Amino acid sequence: MKTIDDLNFNGKKALVRVDFNVPLDEDFHITDDNRIVGALPTLKKILNDGGAVVLMSHLGRPKDGPTDKFSLKHIVTHLSEVLGRQVYFADDCIGEEAKSKAERLQSGEVLLLENLRFYKEEEQGDRGFAEKLASLGDVYVNDAFGTAHRAHASTAVVADFFPENKYFGYLMAKEIENAEMVLNNPARPFTAIMGGAKVSDKLELIDALLEKVDNLIIGGGMAYTFVKAKGGEIGQSLVELDKLDLANELVKKAEEKGVNLVLPTDAQIADRFANDANVYDGPNDQIPADQQGLDIGKDSAEHFKDVIMASNTLLWNGPMGVFEMDTFAKGTRAVANAVVAATERGAFSLIGGGDSAAAVSKFGMTEHVSYVSTGGGALLEYMEGKTLPGVKAILD
Ligand code: AMP
Repeated sequence: MKTIDDLNFNGKKALVRVDFNVPLDEDFHITDDNRIVGALPTLKKILNDGGAVVLMSHLGRPKDGPTDKFSLKHIVTHLSEVLGRQVYFADDCIGEEAKSKAERLQSGEVLLLENLRFYKEEEQGDRGFAEKLASLGDVYVNDAFGTAHRAHASTAVVADFFPENKYFGYLMAKEIENAEMVLNNPARPFTAIMGGAKVSDKLELIDALLEKVDNLIIGGGMAYTFVKAKGGEIGQSLVELDKLDLANELVKKAEEKGVNLVLPTDAQIADRFANDANVYDGPNDQIPADQQGLDIGKDSAEHFKDVIMASNTLLWNGPMGVFEMDTFAKGTRAVANAVVAATERGAFSLIGGGDSAAAVSKFGMTEHVSYVSTGGGALLEYMEGKTLPGVKAILD
């Protein structure tokens, strides 16, 4: 794998794709800077070598060209602070201003380009647009794992213009290394914990994981599709009625492969979708018609904990319940506690991005697991065995 360690950046101008798609509050303050912090080692290595950095990123999903709300100018002050040097900003990611600011950039200096997604050409993977971006640097570095599953101009196509000068940043390299280790060389027993709202989002992943894991724990809203498929009464709980057959097929496949499929048996049952709902623990296949399961119950949490504690590799993606509301966060917290305890005992724990990363962060446990991925969709696709365009573009 060609990483930035293979090059001394002295005198080079590195065009670096980062994922600075950070959450901002209504006053444009960054509420979680993990993604920025994640890219710092790469930026520092290039700058300390004596290189200059031209940063490109997207922010949010702007629909109609430049919009103040999605401007990357809002992150310049914070980025300058954490980098310990002033970051220059170009109001456009291509065009005259970007070009002249990039040209004037000296060794040790940093220029941040405006949001790439102000151009529809970015997501279209337009070659002409990628060529314009490519003209801003003489080396290309991709450190944006969060968008590596997209074949966009800045994440994949631009690499064509740097056939001999393209590298993985440290964050990308670490993400790939961890995902590879879990997929291809896991210490056993290997347990995957899947949760979240919909089974349909994760069908391919579950299917792929059944070839790899010893235990597959399923919680969250998606578990009710399995309970219903077995003939249970699930009341108003989340369900995908068109996926019942598939759920049964996955159960069968687990049996054939000798995978221990662990489904919840009880639920925290609520009379409505609210933090102050009336709740009780009960069997998840006998939920009254006007009620719904919004978290796993105590018995399931205990059972999940035992399986997790006996594992040496853990992959966790998706919450066990509606963890955003404290009343329904207990199951997710119990799983997080067990993952932390197993990690302390020596297990390797990889936490998929998105909601599981948010949950681990909400519980203050980020430092106590082995690795929290910065990629939601990207990690899932990698785990499904798909080739990520952003990764392939560097390897080709
Ligand atoms: P996903 O994006 O598929 O990982 O799903 C995450 C979302 O699933 C979170 O916002 C949770 O609130 C939601 N969720 C988890 N369990 C349940 C449940 N039992 N009922 C409704 N929503 C749930």
